[in-house]
Amino acid sequence: MRCPRCNVALTDGMYEGESVSHCSTCGGVLINRRSLSTLLRRLSSDIYDKIDINAVIPQVPDPGKVHECPACNGLMDHYGYMESNKVQIDCCDECGALWLDALELAAMTKMYIASNKHFKHLRKTEYEGSDLFSGYAYSMAVSGAFLLGFSIG
Ligand SMILES: [Zn+2]
Ligand SMILES: [Zn+2]
Repeated sequence: MRCPRCNVALTDGMYEGESVSHCSTCGGVLINRRSLSTLLRRLSSDIYDKIDINAVIPQVPDPGKVHECPACNGLMDHYGYMESNKVQIDCCDECGALWLDALELAAMTKMYIASNKHFKHLRKTEYEGSDLFSGYAYSMAVSGAFLLGFSIG
């Protein structure tokens, strides 16, 4: 597999327990879409306390759409993570490969933490004492918001 940005061969390796293919020239990584939540969870545990609930995540410069999937040559979708314009990611509809440019995963980790804290805050202020808002509903709300990051739009 080759880097969609630099056209050099990607190096296979492990990152936080997930298998990734990495470009040593630009720092981009190719992962499976299914690995993303695990990666974000593990990465966020290290910096969770350092990210403020209202942290302003700077926009990551978008190097443009990746047209062809490095793994299967399928068509890639280019869209904003969590429906924001902060991070534009590329995902293959056919094999589920996700291309993340160098700064994108770090920014997504911060967004993941901030949204997580927002839900915890909401739960505390608006739903305190409510039987309806059980731990289960809470976890569904968090994972629902997380999945929004993958709505294609
Ligand atoms: Zn590269
Ligand atoms: Zn693909």
